Amino acid sequence: MRMDRRLFFSVIFLLMSLFILHAKVESTPFEDTVVIPAGIPLHQNAVEKTEKDIERAFGIKISEGLAGEDASRWAPDDLAFLYGLIDSLPPYFTRMPDSIKLSKETDYSSQMMTSVTMFVGFVTNMDLTVKTDTLQRNKETLRYIYIHEFAHCLWFDHKNIQSLWERAFWPGGKAEPPSITDYGNSNIMEDFAESIAVYVASPTELLKKNHERYDFIERHVVSLR
Ligand SMILES: [Zn+2]
Repeated sequence: MRMDRRLFFSVIFLLMSLFILHAKVESTPFEDTVVIPAGIPLHQNAVEKTEKDIERAFGIKISEGLAGEDASRWAPDDLAFLYGLIDSLPPYFTRMPDSIKLSKETDYSSQMMTSVTMFVGFVTNMDLTVKTDTLQRNKETLRYIYIHEFAHCLWFDHKNIQSLWERAFWPGGKAEPPSITDYGNSNIMEDFAESIAVYVASPTELLKKNHERYDFIERHVVSLR
């Protein structure tokens, strides 16, 4: 019995010592002298993995614009956001870009962008280019921009929608009734992209402010498979 008590107190003493030692190690201040190695993209592995995931899941090739420029590199968060966004798209987005490229510098003059002051991205031949600055915008805006660009792919892929949209809203080469946004009034493609973007972001707003376009999308776009 006496031995048991001694053993008991020894164990308690040992546990208390360990606890104090642990607390001391935890609280000892020290300074790390880790230096970030220059020129090594620390997230490259995460970026490449998500790029592959996007290509495998959606068949979209992700690439960077000007090689070697840090400012035109995808960050892991940018790609994770993009993956989540594409994954959550409704099924009527039947045609996605073949590739999504990030670019710091883009040639505005060749893209018919003269009237656009707030240039964020464009689609040519099913390839989407996103300007690096665009990724700095808040997530809601970024989501709207991506949907707008994806809507261009939908438009290019459905000639029947193009002619129906023209007959319904651009019979005289002008938006009739006016588009849901000013930018949508600039031409028929932007009208469609803006209408889809608003429909996805806030269908009730589109219904309230532009029920003609809401009805069109409900009837001809949502049924796409
Ligand atoms: Zn557009």
